[in-house]
Amino acid sequence: MRQMKISVVEGDGVGKEVISAALEVLDALTLDIEKVPVEIGYGKWKRTGRAMTEDDFDIFRSCDCILFGAITTPPDPEYKSVLVRIRKEFDLYANIRPIKGIMNSQDIDFTIVRENTEGMYSGIEEVLPDAVHSTRVITRNGSERIAEYACSLATGKRLTIVHKANILKSCWLFREVCIDVANRNKVRWEEMLVDSAAHRIVLNPERFEVVVMTNLFGDILSDMSAALIGGLGVCASANIGADYALFEPVHGSAPDIAGRGVANPIAAILSLAMMLKWYGMTGESDAVKDAVYEVVSRGITTPDIGGRCSTAEVADAISQVVGIDVPSS
Ligand code: ATP
Repeated sequence: MRQMKISVVEGDGVGKEVISAALEVLDALTLDIEKVPVEIGYGKWKRTGRAMTEDDFDIFRSCDCILFGAITTPPDPEYKSVLVRIRKEFDLYANIRPIKGIMNSQDIDFTIVRENTEGMYSGIEEVLPDAVHSTRVITRNGSERIAEYACSLATGKRLTIVHKANILKSCWLFREVCIDVANRNKVRWEEMLVDSAAHRIVLNPERFEVVVMTNLFGDILSDMSAALIGGLGVCASANIGADYALFEPVHGSAPDIAGRGVANPIAAILSLAMMLKWYGMTGESDAVKDAVYEVVSRGITTPDIGGRCSTAEVADAISQVVGIDVPSS
């Protein structure tokens, strides 16, 4: 396997703390990976007037993928979200969010597959004096590729197709395409209206396995699902395209706790595990995940999930376990 090269974006706020924790764990694996730090985000914008430059993009293009912390998006119309631009530029169409219980909720283990490029976030909006029209775009191609991705994760599992096709014609197309793709891939499927899905995920999360949905529904249901397993501090995500990917904790820059050394590094460390798996390093990815579960089971956790440890203490403990169990590739 050729040497992997990753861009490392710490970003703003707790992004710096959790990415430094994830890099400590990566170092414990002693892999031959080149890491290229890239500064983008609100801090850079305040300092230089630009949140991200073309040179930053050139670095991203020269790497296999991005390991991303978090960026503050201020309520300033002049500021353009860098993450949205990266997702667009690399066409990262699949947002994958595993929802796996790590504390008292071990029965919960499902994956949310969210379409990441269209739907309510297509960016087509018309602002009139007394009304605003936001256009929801659902295409056959967009639905087809997200359905294919969901089916690739659902082999031997049940795929839940979430929609609101009884009301929205755009959802009717999404539903139809997902069903076709599931049948073609011989994946067992069911369908569920989004309101009913929200209710049933809260009531009975352990019945779900792989859940596919459009952009806005996925945004809402994944944060809701995160609350079932300990909150944003433990939820990892991947933004996947045909030949590029970005891995990031689901949480933002958490300015309320930034700089205090208490941010939970688990979401960032599990995002690192997703990155290793995406690149084909399955053994190393499993070693990182197992180390996280082991350390949590010993009660070494940050305050957001009931512990008393610092970010650094949790990262040190996970790195130590990884260092002992490092698989030989
Ligand atoms: P942003 O503007 O960057 O989105 P935010 O505070 O609006 O920041 P989040 O960063 O997602 O949104 O934080 C939401 C809540 O979750 C905050 O109370 C924050 O302290 C908490 N939180 C987020 N990440 C972590 C973490 N890694 N560990 C502990 N708590 C966290």
